Amino acid sequence: MKALTKTNKEIGFTYGELKMPKPGEGEVLIKVRAAAICGTDVHYYRWNDAAEGFATKFNLQFPMIPGHECAGDVVEVGSGVKTVKVGDRVTLETHIPCGTCFNCRNDEAHNCMNMKIYGTSCDGCFSEYAIAPESVVFHLPDAVSYEEGALFEPAGVAMRAVERADLCPGDTVLVSGSGPIGMLAILMLQASGAGKIIATDLDDWRLNLASELGAIAVNTGKQDLMEVIRKECPERGGVDVIIETTGAAPVYDTLFTYLRNEGHVVTVGHPGKPVKINVMEAINLKGSTIRGVFGRKLWGTWWKVSALVENKKVDLTKVVTHRFALKDGNEAFEQVANGSGKILFTDFS
Ligand SMILES: [Zn+2]
Ligand SMILES: [Zn+2]
Repeated sequence: MKALTKTNKEIGFTYGELKMPKPGEGEVLIKVRAAAICGTDVHYYRWNDAAEGFATKFNLQFPMIPGHECAGDVVEVGSGVKTVKVGDRVTLETHIPCGTCFNCRNDEAHNCMNMKIYGTSCDGCFSEYAIAPESVVFHLPDAVSYEEGALFEPAGVAMRAVERADLCPGDTVLVSGSGPIGMLAILMLQASGAGKIIATDLDDWRLNLASELGAIAVNTGKQDLMEVIRKECPERGGVDVIIETTGAAPVYDTLFTYLRNEGHVVTVGHPGKPVKINVMEAINLKGSTIRGVFGRKLWGTWWKVSALVENKKVDLTKVVTHRFALKDGNEAFEQVANGSGKILFTDFS
């Protein structure tokens, strides 16, 4: 079969022919129909500090097939597989839980103490066929396309952020960063009853996409964000909710000044280093909450995303800006640096 592989710490992936994999006990074999590029894959492509950190933490071994956001058809199942059969249309959760630790047995399997990561700790899905444990398979409703199915995983991160924000109908939300997760957050917020959504970025091309999705787009390099917030929600003194997706450390210098008293901040982007927060001003006196997001709630977040897509409450393909064939994998990854929303692989021949 054809696949992209990471074979060393140099920039790039290798495209070539690999032996057809065989599903072992508790595993399924999927013919991949659509796969999406995630930030983690970009780190592995370039092999930067983030890649090094993640690879060490989650035991990446070369050669490895990258990719974890995909959808396809089950073409073979290994022994002992009970809930998945040949012909099923499926997508995959990236966090592979152990099923037996405290978190797994406390309804928090997404943050398992012995977690493995699909497309890091084992081979992923940037290939014609992919192996996955039965425990991470999620079935696609008939009405959902493979392209939409491949986006359930990142859309789930955005939905998890909305869940963690305790969003109330009509809330004004600041989405900090208009990359793929920021865009998916805009869609999930709209589907969840948010009022005004203000989206920021430094890149006008991305802001244009955010504005096409219906957000009030603000270039924080050129415009005064506080002025926009004062105009859009004059009584509240700030927004009700902030969803931070940039992971840019300097964002935290001013982030809490945009939040109203008793508001909620959800952090999705990972700053590569510690950031300073004035606990007295930003948290205590403000009465604010700050919560992190790591993956999707198993399986609650998935059911929400699936139902919203199935019932046409949200069109995930609106965040897709480019489609590539797997054989042009390196070109697809170069496109990320030149500006993109979500990039899909749709041709695996
Ligand atoms: Zn992802
Ligand atoms: Zn566990």
